[in-house]
Amino acid sequence: MSLDLMSLMLVSTALCLLTAGLIGYVRTAFPRRYRAPLGAWAQALVLQGLGWGAFVMRGQWPDAVTVMLANLLLLAGMQRLDHAIGLYFARPVPWRRELALLGAAFVWLLLFLWIAPDYTLRLVGMTVLIAVPLLHAIATLLRRGRRPYPPALRIVVLFLALPVAVLLLRALKQLFGTPVDSIVAHDPVQIALHLTAALAPVATALGFVLMVASRLQAELAEAADTDPLTGLANRRRVEALARPWVEDPEGALSALMIDVDHFKRVNDQHGHDAGDEALVWLGSHLRVEARASDLVGRLGGEEFVMLLPGTRLAEALVLAERLRATVAATPADLGGGIEWPLTISVGVAERRPGDTEVRSLLRRADDAMYEAKRAGRNRVVRAPD
Ligand code: GH3
Ligand code: MG
Ligand code: MG
Repeated sequence: MSLDLMSLMLVSTALCLLTAGLIGYVRTAFPRRYRAPLGAWAQALVLQGLGWGAFVMRGQWPDAVTVMLANLLLLAGMQRLDHAIGLYFARPVPWRRELALLGAAFVWLLLFLWIAPDYTLRLVGMTVLIAVPLLHAIATLLRRGRRPYPPALRIVVLFLALPVAVLLLRALKQLFGTPVDSIVAHDPVQIALHLTAALAPVATALGFVLMVASRLQAELAEAADTDPLTGLANRRRVEALARPWVEDPEGALSALMIDVDHFKRVNDQHGHDAGDEALVWLGSHLRVEARASDLVGRLGGEEFVMLLPGTRLAEALVLAERLRATVAATPADLGGGIEWPLTISVGVAERRPGDTEVRSLLRRADDAMYEAKRAGRNRVVRAPD
């Protein structure tokens, strides 16, 4: 098989620039906070494209210029990739580190390209320098990525690792095997390097855009299940999380339905914002009082729920009474120096063997809560057996 390596480098240039353009274009469709990492990725591809482009100019421009330019651009491109991944995980690479590496590359090339030309030393040195940002990017992905690693992250890791592997192989072959004397010298490892250079940028870019898209998707799913005011689970999440608990015939499950007493008065006297503050205050109070295994949610208005897996009625009643007493004893901070003596009415129910739905358990807790209201509020009532 005879491959023209110059043409392959031209293909790499074109693919990098095309992919950069596409990412730069789709970037505008993403929320603002994702535009920086996608933008950095596009810049990385432009730098890499120009790097391969500089190699293509061999023969037209002096080697001393094309080789220096190409190496620095490729290294800067790899650093931008690392930077983009850092931005994605909110841990951008400090620019001083990027600059230091580029400076080291410049000095190395100055020495072994211009002052005492030595292809092997140049190649080995640049291999190490280019491997640094790539390995750092891989490490960031593996350390910060959520396990089990999603497919998009695996794609990026694989296609960042591939060039590192080929570069190292080439350096080892140069040192201990049959050395070559130029980037366009024909040799199986060199061909592998050029093929990787053409394909990896496309694969990593696809993987990275998918990583961004799947994180956005996860954020939207999270938002759809969360009460924006208190950050608690909303009814949708409460029902979804409680479903397996209700369906488990072995485990005990109790529910607390909690409603603020005379909440309208807070709004009437201090305004809707103060009312919101009261709800936030109560939400965090409930969360603090709950155990890690309990689920606290806001079902709407001033109505909260607590689902207590593994908890029998007697124990749930103790918790409900403690909540009622601590809320009544602690004035809610409504901001602006306003404190309000909140009280709550709580209905408690335990799942019955016949309960197959979360709703039937919640309905009985709700009935008990209304019973508490009728009985004068600021009290705990258990649902009838
Ligand atoms: P009760 O003791 O019988 O529960 O009386 P209440 O005033 O708490 O109950 P009611 O259902 O009459 O009024 C609930 C009030 O809660 C009415 C509504 O304006 C207010 N509310 C509902 N959602 C919110 C909210 O998100 N923020 C604020 N500030 N108020 C809310
Ligand atoms: Mg109320
Ligand atoms: Mg209510």
